[in-house]
Amino acid sequence: MLFLLGEKVVRTTTDHGSFDCPICQSPQTALHVLDKNYFTVFFIRILPLKLIGDYLECSHCLHSYDPKDTSQPAYIPHLSMILSYLMLGYGVNESKLLAADIYQNMTNQESDEKELRNNIAALSEGKEIFETLKAASFRLNTMAKIRLVEAAYLMTRAMSDLSYEDRLRVNLIGNALDLSLECINEIINRIQQVQ
Ligand SMILES: [Zn+2]
Repeated sequence: MLFLLGEKVVRTTTDHGSFDCPICQSPQTALHVLDKNYFTVFFIRILPLKLIGDYLECSHCLHSYDPKDTSQPAYIPHLSMILSYLMLGYGVNESKLLAADIYQNMTNQESDEKELRNNIAALSEGKEIFETLKAASFRLNTMAKIRLVEAAYLMTRAMSDLSYEDRLRVNLIGNALDLSLECINEIINRIQQVQ
């Protein structure tokens, strides 16, 4: 007999009450979201495997926040980290205007030069980006993860000829954020269709 085994992420939400959303710039209700991975047989949930996400989500703008820090969406420092990582690969001076542009387009705020410099210094000294993103993914909803992959792809496409290694780097960033290869390809296809 054939058993169809798999994993499925199940999202449960509870009402967290009101918080001051920095994106909406007004009090909004937030959901407390828990994403749990389940082992499935024939697509039926059998066994909870582990908690893979725990964050607040604004019910208006849908940005996800670390429950301990709602001063900015949780993806923003990681956007800066990803751009810094790619800047190191493609040349800090050659890519800094582009990185600032992508950051501003994504967040509607100016990139923090000091933060970028600190990230670049930490990465040069051996800070492991993929481990950092794996840990970060706990506080990110899918929308935030998609934004981070979009930023990585836009920067990569502008700075490279999208060789195997260039695309692989984008895939590794998506994988570290717990996105499947199909999902990463879909994000990239969507960008290509828009432009
Ligand atoms: Zn909001």
